[in-house]
Amino acid sequence: MFKRGGCDLPGEALCFCIVSLLILIEAPQLVVGDQNDMSGWHLSQKVEANKEISLHSASVPGRPFGRLQEILQSIKLDVEQIIVAASSTDVVFERLAYVADTFGPRFSGTSGLELAIDHIKAEMQRDGLSVTEEPVMVPRWVRGAEQARLVSPRNKTLAMVGLGDSIGTGGKPIVAPVLVVSSFADLALRRNEAAGRIVVFNTPFVSYGETVDYRSGGAAAAAAAGGVAALVRSVTSFSLQTPHAGTTDKASVPAAAITVEDAELLARMQRRGQEPVVELYMEAQTLPDVQSRNLIVEIRGSERPDEVVMFGGHIDSWDITDGAIDDGGGAMITWELSPPAASLSTNSLLSLLRVKASSTCGDVIRLLHSLGLQPRRTVRGVLFVNEENGARGGQQYARDHASEMNRTSIAIETDAGTFTPYGLEFTGTSEARAILEEIGRAFLSEMGLRHVTDSGGGTDVYYTCALGVPCASLSVLDPRESDGPNNPCRDVRPQGVGRPTFGTSAYFWYHHSAADTPDKMSPQQLQQCAASLATWVYAIASLDEILPRGEATVRPQ
Ligand SMILES: [Zn+2]
Repeated sequence: MFKRGGCDLPGEALCFCIVSLLILIEAPQLVVGDQNDMSGWHLSQKVEANKEISLHSASVPGRPFGRLQEILQSIKLDVEQIIVAASSTDVVFERLAYVADTFGPRFSGTSGLELAIDHIKAEMQRDGLSVTEEPVMVPRWVRGAEQARLVSPRNKTLAMVGLGDSIGTGGKPIVAPVLVVSSFADLALRRNEAAGRIVVFNTPFVSYGETVDYRSGGAAAAAAAGGVAALVRSVTSFSLQTPHAGTTDKASVPAAAITVEDAELLARMQRRGQEPVVELYMEAQTLPDVQSRNLIVEIRGSERPDEVVMFGGHIDSWDITDGAIDDGGGAMITWELSPPAASLSTNSLLSLLRVKASSTCGDVIRLLHSLGLQPRRTVRGVLFVNEENGARGGQQYARDHASEMNRTSIAIETDAGTFTPYGLEFTGTSEARAILEEIGRAFLSEMGLRHVTDSGGGTDVYYTCALGVPCASLSVLDPRESDGPNNPCRDVRPQGVGRPTFGTSAYFWYHHSAADTPDKMSPQQLQQCAASLATWVYAIASLDEILPRGEATVRPQ
C-alpha cells in the first residue's frame, strides 16, 4: 500500500506521493503503454476526448444531474437494504480469516497466492457470481535464507527482512562496521566515513510517504557513498521489535530493513564510540516473471451494462505476512460488495437470517428483496495481484480495459485498512465531488460516513485513473488514533492537523510485517466498510450519467 498526495497514503513501488498530472480521457485508439509511460497518447487526442466527454457528461443545471435528488430518493429503500444486509453478518471477517490462516502469505509468484486465488474464485462461483480471470505476468523475487547479526561490541541477532528487489550478498556474509545516519543529508555530511561500511538509515517515522524514501533509496545512496550494504529502520510509527518489508529501488548493494529498536541501538553505540560491526547475509535473487491473474467479479447493469463502476483491493501480500489488513480486508469487502448485498451466498444468507432472527419480518423481507437488486450500470469488483512489489495487476487492468475508460464512472480502491469508515477520498472534478457529497448526505450522514475529502486513489487504480477515470479510495479512521496517552503515535502527528491522519494510523504498526494478522481486525468495522462502500458503489451506478470528468488531477509518481 502507499502514499497519497498530501502525502499520507500507503504505497508501494510506485508510491503516490505524486504531483499533479492531467487526467487523460480514454480514446478508442489508445493503447496503454508501459507502466510509467502514458505518453502513448497524444495531446490532440486528449483535447478531443476531453471535449467529447465534457459535452457528454457535463453537469448542466436541469440535466443530466438535475434529477440527482429524484434518483437518490428512488434508491433509498435499496440502500437501506444494502446497509442492513452488509451490517448484519460477519461473513467478511470469516472469509478473510480463512484465507489468511489457510494460505498464509500471498506473495507474487508463490503457490500461496495462487491457491488463495483458486479458493476465492471457487467460492465466488459457489455463490453464483460471474467471475473471470485476467492473466497478469508478475515479478518473482525470492528472499532465500537471510540473517543479520551484531558481532561487535556484542553478539546479537538483529531481526531483519531483506527488501524486495534487493540483491543478495554474493553467497557469503558481508562483515563490516556500520555508519549510522539520520537522513540523506546526514549521509552527505559524513560521506567520507561511508566507504566499506554498512550504512544504517535510522530515520524516524514522519509519514509513510516521506519516510518510505529511505527504504526505496537507501541502498542506492549507500552505494553511491561507497557503502557495502544498507540497513533501513523499518517504516513504521510503532514497533515491538518487528521488521517491516517493502521494496527497494534497484541498487548495486544489498538492502534490508531492521527494527526501530535495533536501529536505535546501533545509533546509541555509535554515539558512544563503540564502533558496532554487523554481519549481513542474504540469498535474495530475482527470477523470471511468472503468470498470475486478477479476478474480476461483476454484476451487469440493467440499463447501461457497458458503463462501469469499478472498485477493488489487492489479494497479494508480502512474503513474511498473512496480509490481513494489507490488503485482505480490501479484497474481501470487494468480494462482499461485488454482489452489493444482493447475492449473498446461501451460507451468508443463513448467517444473516440468524443474526436478524430477533428483528422484524419486514427487515428480512427487505433483505430478501435486496437479493434481486441490479444497478443501472455494471458494478465490477477487481481483486488485483502484485500491488506490493510491482503493481502489475493495476497496470494490466488498465491495458485490458483501455477501451472502457471513457465509460468507467469511477475507480475506488480500498487499501488503507478496513477500520471505521469515514467517507471517500476523491480526486476528480468539483462537479463530480458535489454529486458524491449529495450521495453521502442522502445515505450516510446519520452514520457519520459521508465525508468526501481530497486525494483519492491508490496503487491499483492509479493506471486506470491516469487514463481519465475519476479516482477514489475508501476513507477510514482507526479508533486507536487519538490524543490519548495510549496512542504511541500521537507525538508524530503533524501539528495543526484537525483529525487523525492516515500516517499515524495503526495501519502502519502492522503494515508489511508478520504482525498483520486477522486478530488485529474488527468484524464489525469490516462490515461497516462493506456497508459504506456498497452504498457509494450502488448509488454511483444508479445515476443517470457517469460522473462528470474533465481536467482533473491524479498524482502520478
Ligand atoms: Zn496494500
